[in-house]
Amino acid sequence: MKVTKAELAKVAVKPDQYPDTQLPEIALSGRSNVGKSSFINKMINRKGLARTSQKPGKTQTLNFYEVNEQLYFVDVPGYGFAKVPKTEREAWGRMIETYLQNRPQLKAVIQIVDLRHPPSADDKMMYNWLKHFDMQVIVVATKADKIPKGKWQKHLSIISKDLQKDESDPIMLFSAETAHGKEELWKKILYYASM
Ligand code: GDP
Repeated sequence: MKVTKAELAKVAVKPDQYPDTQLPEIALSGRSNVGKSSFINKMINRKGLARTSQKPGKTQTLNFYEVNEQLYFVDVPGYGFAKVPKTEREAWGRMIETYLQNRPQLKAVIQIVDLRHPPSADDKMMYNWLKHFDMQVIVVATKADKIPKGKWQKHLSIISKDLQKDESDPIMLFSAETAHGKEELWKKILYYASM
C-alpha cells in the first residue's frame, strides 16, 4: 500500500475525544520498548511521527494516526513498566478497556512482540485480555533482522504456543530495519479494516 498522507489526528483519553468518523481503526499494543513506534513509522513511511516510548509519569493517551483518509492506527500506550504506580496502571487499564468495549470502528489489534524472546508474562496477559473482549488480533513478531532466517519458524512457534494463540489470529514477521513483512501486513490490515 502506498501511504501518501499520515498525521496525528487525535489524542484521546475519553470517548468524547475519539475521532468523530466512521473510518476503521486498527490498534497497536505492545510492551514498552518492543518497537511499536518504529513499527508505526515504518508502516506509514514517516521517520519521527510516532514517538518512542511514553514514559511513566507522562499522560497516557490513545494516539489516532489517520492514514490516507482511509483508516486510523491507534497507538495504545505500552505496558510492562514494573515500577509504574498502581493508580497509573489502573487508569491505563480503564482507558483501554473503555476503548475496546465501545468502539465498533475498531477492527483488529496488532499485538507486537519481540521475535527474539518468548512472550513475557505481560504479553500473555495482554493477549488474554484482548481475547476476553473478542478482539481479532494480529500478532506481529518484530526485530526479525536480529534473528537468522533459519530460526524464524522455531521462534514463531514458541511465541504461538506460549501465547496459546487462537488459530484465527495470524502471526506475522516484521522488521523496522529492513521493512520485511511490510507489504504482507498491509494486505492483512486492509482485509480486516474492510470487515
Ligand atoms: P516502543 O517503545 O515500543 O515504541 O519502541 P521503539 O520503536 O522506540 O523501539 C525500541 C528500540 O528498538 C529502538 O532502539 C529501536 O531502534 C529498536 N527497534 C525497533 N524495531 C526494530 C527492528 O525491527 N529491528 C531492530 N534491529 N531494532 C528495532
